[in-house]
Amino acid sequence: MEFKSFLIKYAEIGVKGKNKFIFEDALVKQINTALKKTDGTFKVYKETGRIYADALSEYDYDEVIEALQRVFGIAGICPLVQIEDKGFEDLKQNVILYMEEVYGHKNLTFKVNARRARKNYEKTSVEINMDMGEALLNAFSEYSVDVHNPQVMLNIEIRKHINIYSMTIPGPGGMPVGTAGKAMLLLSGGIDSPVAGYMAAKRGVQLEATYFHAPPYTSERAKQKVIDLAKQVALYSGPVRVNVVNFTDVQLYIYEKCPHDELTIIMKRVMFKIAEHFARESGCLGLITGESIGQVSSQTLQSLGVINEVCTMPVFRPVIAFDKQDIVDMAIKIGTYDISIQPFEDCCTTFVAKHPVTKPSLERIRKSEENLSENIDRLVREAIESTQVIIAG
Ligand code: ATP
Ligand code: MG
Repeated sequence: MEFKSFLIKYAEIGVKGKNKFIFEDALVKQINTALKKTDGTFKVYKETGRIYADALSEYDYDEVIEALQRVFGIAGICPLVQIEDKGFEDLKQNVILYMEEVYGHKNLTFKVNARRARKNYEKTSVEINMDMGEALLNAFSEYSVDVHNPQVMLNIEIRKHINIYSMTIPGPGGMPVGTAGKAMLLLSGGIDSPVAGYMAAKRGVQLEATYFHAPPYTSERAKQKVIDLAKQVALYSGPVRVNVVNFTDVQLYIYEKCPHDELTIIMKRVMFKIAEHFARESGCLGLITGESIGQVSSQTLQSLGVINEVCTMPVFRPVIAFDKQDIVDMAIKIGTYDISIQPFEDCCTTFVAKHPVTKPSLERIRKSEENLSENIDRLVREAIESTQVIIAG
């Protein structure tokens, strides 16, 4: 069956009251963006608490469903047949045709679920349910009615037009991107941070990203991998602006001046400061990282605390309590895993110590950082000034 329209159902959470239109408008915008990437042309609009996407051209059904399944805020996608009201007899013929094309003559149980938004229709909802049920039983001897647990729930909505639909393809849930403000993702080439970005985007957060690279210790390919990850996350979040920071001179300087078992912590502190600088500049409300308690020495509670101390903005860590395997599973699901496991060097691993501290003391770290006082401000400023911006997605 060729569907000319889709009814988009959205999650009700957080959409009550005065903010509802903000949520709906953001969702319409995100649906438009997603559908523009497909071959079809669509008109996306809201009408009396519903969002519709009408096809204005030929389109590829699978491609469109896939695109819509990436739009956060969508709870369900219902391929829809929309007809004019030409009386109940005409509706009956259309519904029979619909069932014929979608299900054919196979054994199934169904229930008719009619709703009238327009009370001047010639029949009540109960009458439509009964009469349409009877018409279907007459037309399809294989069908039977099950009002409690039907295999097919046939929805008939009497509105300005009449909507006929029975399939609900699950959406990703969450909130439309943009409804929760913007945050700065510290995006590395690893498995965790793209997942963290995805999770924040799912709650409506628009993403910007900062990546620290250290040429020639890290290659162009390592950078390209991060851009590819940003592009994959952008399929869900919309375009991501990536700040690519050249971190080499800062890293070499820390390497030269600080105890090696504290390198990772001190480097992370500088990274967070620089990321926060960009975050503030572009109106972000927080930072996002892929840290998870205890995963490595720089992610013990003590280390996280000492790293966090340089920031005044909140740092959000969506995967903080996830096991690695859970993060991997999600990375596979969202399509970032295969990119993340490409074997390219990371700026942190290049300078990593054999026995890094696992319980850093803030006092000692601050003391070590005093060794940097001569040049660190200048090097940080130069890193910021030479940052390259790439739009991914
Ligand atoms: P990931 O899998 O996300 O790389 P990880 O387990 O390798 O994480 P770390 O390397 O300790 O952990 O990094 C912790 C977090 O710090 C990352 O999730 C990321 O948010 C941030 N981070 C690490 N390296 C970089 C980098 N080169 N550029 C930007 N952010 C980084
Ligand atoms: Mg990493």
